[in-house]
Amino acid sequence: MTERTFSILKPDATRRNITGKINAVIEGAGLRIVAQKRVKLTQAQAEKFYEVHKERPFYGELVSQMTAEPVVVQVLEGDNAVLKYREVMGATNPEQAAEGTIRKLFALSIGENSVHGSDSQDNAKIEIAQFFDDASIPG
Ligand code: ADP
Ligand code: MG
Repeated sequence: MTERTFSILKPDATRRNITGKINAVIEGAGLRIVAQKRVKLTQAQAEKFYEVHKERPFYGELVSQMTAEPVVVQVLEGDNAVLKYREVMGATNPEQAAEGTIRKLFALSIGENSVHGSDSQDNAKIEIAQFFDDASIPG
């Protein structure tokens, strides 16, 4: 089933100027980038976006990394896009990520792991709505 997921190319990726290389992996996996823009997350946006992790020890570091430099926020579309993008991203810890995944190829560390992808269809809708008017994005 065709669906949409939400992606962020994180500051470690924009800083190293590798957003095109990551997009090539995304497109190579059959996902279509139907919307994308470069934005600098505010502290409030980053705190809200990662609210589920607020009790975790890495929360403060995560929010400060995500606001340090611009990110690229994206809407990806394709068959089973949520699950497919999770597979293309690879494991959170790049040391455990499979060959050919974005995190295996590009991540610097478990924190600076180059990409975010929604973990469920419900969260994809919530996350897309934080940055895009989804209804106006052509398929
Ligand atoms: P994912 O991004 O794979 O869905 P999580 O939702 O568990 O992973 O965590 C969100 C983000 O928080 C990760 O992508 C990573 O940037 C950061 N993070 C997760 N675990 C750690 C950790 N143990 N140490 C530092 N940062 C972490
Ligand atoms: Mg997650």
